[in-house]
Amino acid sequence: MNSSRLPMRPRRVAVFSLHTSPLEQPGTGDAGGMNVYVAQTARRMAQLGTEVEIFTRATSSEIPPVAELAPGVTVRNIVAGPFEGLDKNDLPAQLCAFGAGALRVEARQEPGYYDVVHSHYWLSGQVGWLARERWGVPLVHTAHTLAKVKNAALAEGDKPEPSVRVVGEEQVVADADRLVANTETEARELVTRYEADPADVAVVPPGVDLERFTPGDRGAARDRLGLEADSVVLTFVGRVQPLKGPDVLLRSVAELLGRRPELRPVLRVLMVGGPSGNGTERPEAMERLAETLGIADVVRFSPPQWGEDLVAVYRASDLVAVPSYNESFGLVALEAQACGTPVVAAAVGGLSVAVSDGVSGRLVEGHAPADWADVLSSLVWNPGLRERLGAAAPDNAARFSWQRTTESLLETYVRARKSFRERPWLGEATA
Ligand code: UDP
Repeated sequence: MNSSRLPMRPRRVAVFSLHTSPLEQPGTGDAGGMNVYVAQTARRMAQLGTEVEIFTRATSSEIPPVAELAPGVTVRNIVAGPFEGLDKNDLPAQLCAFGAGALRVEARQEPGYYDVVHSHYWLSGQVGWLARERWGVPLVHTAHTLAKVKNAALAEGDKPEPSVRVVGEEQVVADADRLVANTETEARELVTRYEADPADVAVVPPGVDLERFTPGDRGAARDRLGLEADSVVLTFVGRVQPLKGPDVLLRSVAELLGRRPELRPVLRVLMVGGPSGNGTERPEAMERLAETLGIADVVRFSPPQWGEDLVAVYRASDLVAVPSYNESFGLVALEAQACGTPVVAAAVGGLSVAVSDGVSGRLVEGHAPADWADVLSSLVWNPGLRERLGAAAPDNAARFSWQRTTESLLETYVRARKSFRERPWLGEATA
């Protein structure tokens, strides 16, 4: 490699986002924060002069092999297995096909076309590892979630992540040139649970779109969503799966109404998001739970929302609850705060970083409905406190921005290129 080029920002990055495309709308299935992360940072990288090519698995015969996400950002839809019907857990069997597709794309370009590979989630990391070796460029990897961390704090009824994932993650951690962690906690997890070299881990917090998510008129937002002006609205936004703890909010609301029945006419719960994973906590299961708990009359279920409708959801809410069992960051918590809405979140993972306890919301230890009901009650009965937390929330969210995330990622690429050493192929090593 030409050493005079090393300190420069890369001209072009190959981003691997195998299991979910940044062109998909988040909030259901496998599309969530990672899609937002990849799309937001890619756009901004291109604006800063680094082209981005995102490799993802084609999931429809309708989509073209190559699509433009934004100027300077290309999405390559690689055929690897049937378009439909594959679950995330089926994808390890398609890694070879996906890898072959990615290598074929690169082989049609001039030599040295990509300067860096950035893989998202362990499935992409496996292919990124191959590309690193073949193309002679550094691999930067972001895990987004880690199986060992998830398995250590499983929601009731959630299935542990399989050992194939654990082993796959360990391999990627060992072979990546740099690992991007969302928080210091995740960086520690990579070191203690996955034996990452601390020198290889960069902490790069994700961001929030501060131009889109802004405070606004609550009354207008409620009109838009058909919510009463004088109700107290508690909201959940996210993919409906056990990990996100949607049941925790429902159970704590039932507890709250059991203690203070006079709240029933004013309390409203808004559950926004689509089914995800193969757990039992699909929206229909949550509807049944609301019935069983005797609170169906105060709960409204909504499919995923996007654009201005999602902004209206945050603005219309008095509180947004994020009761996840594990969250490597939790973009919903940042987006709600950016809209001036306080967040009540479980004190886990990145949520403890995203929410400032007592300043922009509250952090709750554990998931016991009684504890959550205590905290919700203290806020439901105290509009002054909610207002104070809501007023401080946008500044708390503004500590994070996609622009800063993007600049830190570019810096990480530069460092990865500086320290990159090609590993000898096995034959050369033993020769
Ligand atoms: N989201 C959305 N519409 C919905 C629900 C969620 O656009 O109805 C988006 C949300 O705005 C956020 C992302 O999906 O940007 C979820 O990210 P988060 O980090 O909170 O959770 P993840 O899905 O990554 O587990």
